[in-house]
Order: sequence, then C-alpha cells, then structure tokens
Amino acid sequence: MAEQRRALIAGNWKMYGGHAWLDQARAVAEALRAEPARARVAICPPATLIHRMVESVEGSGLLVGGQDCRPEAEGAFTGDVSAEMLADAGATLVVLGHSERRTGHAEDDALIAAKADAALRAGLEPIVCVGERLEQRQAGQALAVVTAQIEASLPAALAGRDFAVAYEPVWAIGTGLTPTAPEIEDVHAAIRAALSRRFGPESLRVPILYGGSVKPANAAEILRTPEVDGALVGGASLKAADFLGIIRAERRG
Ligand code: PEP
Repeated sequence: MAEQRRALIAGNWKMYGGHAWLDQARAVAEALRAEPARARVAICPPATLIHRMVESVEGSGLLVGGQDCRPEAEGAFTGDVSAEMLADAGATLVVLGHSERRTGHAEDDALIAAKADAALRAGLEPIVCVGERLEQRQAGQALAVVTAQIEASLPAALAGRDFAVAYEPVWAIGTGLTPTAPEIEDVHAAIRAALSRRFGPESLRVPILYGGSVKPANAAEILRTPEVDGALVGGASLKAADFLGIIRAERRG
C-alpha cells in the first residue's frame, strides 16, 4: 500500500442491533484500547444506535459512522436522516451507495454524488460503494461498470477531501462468495486509475476498501492483495470476536 494511505476496516451493521448489541462495540473498543490497531477502525450501526455507540466507545479510537444520508440538511422528508443529523449524533463517516440502497431504494449515481456532497458539507468522511452485479461480471463488464460508477458517483467537491471507496461486488455481499485475489486486484487497479484521472496525484491518499463476505478466515489473503487498503465488512462485523479477527489480519497499517 502506498505510504500516503492508512488502511480502514469498517463494519456495516445494516439493520441489525438494539442497545444490547452495544456490548459488541464495547468489546471492540476495549481490544483497541489494549492494543491499538494499525488500521483505522469504524462501525456503522443503525442510526438509532449511533449516539449511544459514540458514548460507549469514547476514547478508544473506534470511529462510528452512518449507513446512508439524505442530500438535504433538513426538510419534510419523513423517515430520512441528514448528514448533519448523523454528525450531530457523533458520526464521523457515512457509507453511501451501498448496493442494498442502489437496488432496494433505486439510488442512482447522481443521487449518491449529491449525498457525498451532503456528507462533506456536514464534515463527514464518505465511503462510496461501487460494484458490479453477477450478470455484469459474467458478461465481462465488471471493470467498465465500476469505472462508470466511480466517474458518476464521486462529486468534484471530493478533491482534496478525506473519503474512501469500497469495491463491493453485489454477488459477493452476504453470499459467502468472493472474487479471487487477482480479480479484486484488477478492479482495485481500475478504480485507482479512475480516481487518478478524476482527482490527480492527490487521489493516492484515498483508501480503496474491498467488501463482500470478508471473514477472519479470508481476511489476511484479501487484505494483502495489492491495491486493497482495508475492508467494508457486513455480517462478520456483528460479533466483536469476528470483527477483531479481521482487524488483526490487517498488517500494513
Ligand atoms: C456489506 O454489506 O457491505 C457487506 C460487505 O456484507 P458481507 O460482509 O456480509 O458480505
């Protein structure tokens, strides 16, 4: 990994977790206090838990993030959460463009770019997700799909700001399937090239995470793949022991 970037291991709890689950975040925080991680570490719980999680892990270095935000700062948008509200709750990052939002909520690249603008406005670090569907990979379109998503989902305002990209092949999320290391490396290299075309040399600072069925058992291999600067972890982030297994597999800092 280039000197300019520090790895990021982020857990996405999706729509799982009530207050009892904060014990898992506390256990991760406790382990990080005892032995700080080489990577930055974050958990993105449901919005209802953000504030309490921030309080529960204070002083540990564990970052807390949101899973989505609306572009507007406020308004008559029943059920939605703004980037400012996430920041007010203590979040410092936000996942945007996850495939479960692109598919389940018909989010397109332009909307995701508007959400990234909102995140920057609120002082949050966006983690923008991209990834191809199975039929697109089978048709040999993975690189083209991901490159197009990078070009259209990342607003110009990200230049010089802190953000991350997560490559999450849709067919690998929650399925136990993962691409081979060379397949991951190919896509990450294409993302790196697209970032460089769009943002120039300063884009070397942007970590590119892999996401999709990362577990303690496969984390070391995935995390040592060239161009992989960390992981976005769904199911395996729900249990502290599993998540810590992935965090400790990141050896490069
Ligand atoms: C995700 O939801 O971002 C994800 C990568 O899920 P999983 O690790 O469970 O495949």
